Amino acid sequence: MSFDVIIVGSGFSGATIAERCASSGKRVLVLEKRSHIGGNSYDYRDERGFLVHKYGPHIFHTSNREVWNYLSRFTRWREYHHRVMVYIDGKKVPLPFNLNSLKSLFPPSRATLLERKLIKNFGYGSQVSVLELKNSSDEDLRSLGDFIYRKIYLNYTIKQWGRKPEEISPQVLARVPVSISNQDEYFEDEFQGIPEEGYTAIFKKMLSHPNIKLLLNTDAKKLLTLNFKTGKIIFQGKEFNGPVVYTGPIDELFDYKHGELPYRTLRFQWEYHPVEKFQEVAVVNYPNDYPFTRITEYKHLTGETRPDTVIAKEFPVPYQKGKDIPYYPVLYQDSLERLKMYKRELRQFSNLFTLGRLGEFIYLNMDEAVERALMLFSKKLK
Ligand code: FAD
Ligand code: UDP
Repeated sequence: MSFDVIIVGSGFSGATIAERCASSGKRVLVLEKRSHIGGNSYDYRDERGFLVHKYGPHIFHTSNREVWNYLSRFTRWREYHHRVMVYIDGKKVPLPFNLNSLKSLFPPSRATLLERKLIKNFGYGSQVSVLELKNSSDEDLRSLGDFIYRKIYLNYTIKQWGRKPEEISPQVLARVPVSISNQDEYFEDEFQGIPEEGYTAIFKKMLSHPNIKLLLNTDAKKLLTLNFKTGKIIFQGKEFNGPVVYTGPIDELFDYKHGELPYRTLRFQWEYHPVEKFQEVAVVNYPNDYPFTRITEYKHLTGETRPDTVIAKEFPVPYQKGKDIPYYPVLYQDSLERLKMYKRELRQFSNLFTLGRLGEFIYLNMDEAVERALMLFSKKLK
């Protein structure tokens, strides 16, 4: 059988492109090196029957109506508003750090003073980065910024990235701002939810189109070769002139010719507890007291009701090429310089596109991965 498009990877980036191309009449080949579809958003039932996310907690949230409507063709949503707590000095308080967190941690008179100054300086309802607060001209706000930085961001970031907050891209910390409000939700997006039957069910539907052929356990690097002299892509010994969309790591695609891009990987310690609830909310972060960064209790996400529970402790660790999953691209200046060199290589191949968290080496949420895939489809592949 011949194909019009080859897609490498079946996470949200690859699955969206595959579904769109197949629905527009193209014959699509999807190559996936894992034994399952869904990339890092994959979920499954564990040996006790709990629905869990194999690669860490995934909460869907977006302000993009087009993305929400698109995915809603493949799933109904369980209404869920994500709440996170952070463990500081023996207390669990809401994260993002907000006015409620302030009141839990400071004596009433100090909390009132700080609240008044936060609202006066930034306005009720606004969000401010911890680094901005730390550099505030007001001494009380500066010392609050220092406190939040030390207790919440410093050690968590060192564990997560192996670097201090100042050494990674500010966009990473900006994901979790300080919130000048009494609102305890983690995300502000208009659309939020967990797929009613889980994420893998979405991928099954997206990839079930008769025009799509899916090969699992198939490493595309073994089937595709790039000819740098001719700018042609060779697939199984023959020139392939249709579009190839690659959602694996861009440095691997080019055989690391400009060196490795940095990633962080994760290890999960799964624990079963014969209690109805282990913790108050789905995710509790532990910046300071333990080697793990956070604990996820899956029941909160899935809404499952039963007398026992399962949790996962998350340990970030250095990434080893060829052995580990590249969970997170590490965004700092030298890695971005190296990325530019790989992007230049890409220009030599008119029918090769990289996409997604690894293909573009950007810190993408699921909705952003879908948004970028829809955009690539409508601009270049329609
Ligand atoms: P991936 O899901 O990584 O898919 C890439 C696929 O390509 C993989 O299946 C891989 O096996 C395959 N592949 C790679 N190389 C090859 C090859 N050579 N041959 C064949 N196949 C190959 N986003 C949210 O919106 N909300 C969250 O709560 C959230 N939580 C997260 C928690 C963690 C711990 C992590 C790591 C990410 C989280 N994300 C979350 C982000 C989300 O996982 C990504 O946005 C999404 O997975 C990106 O999809 P993708 O298709 O670009 O990449
Ligand atoms: N962060 C932190 N302390 C926290 C939560 C987040 O220092 O309690 C920082 C840390 O650098 C982290 C980043 O903010 O990597 C982004 O956090 P987010 O919760 O968005 O991470 P993700 O869910 O993508 O792992």
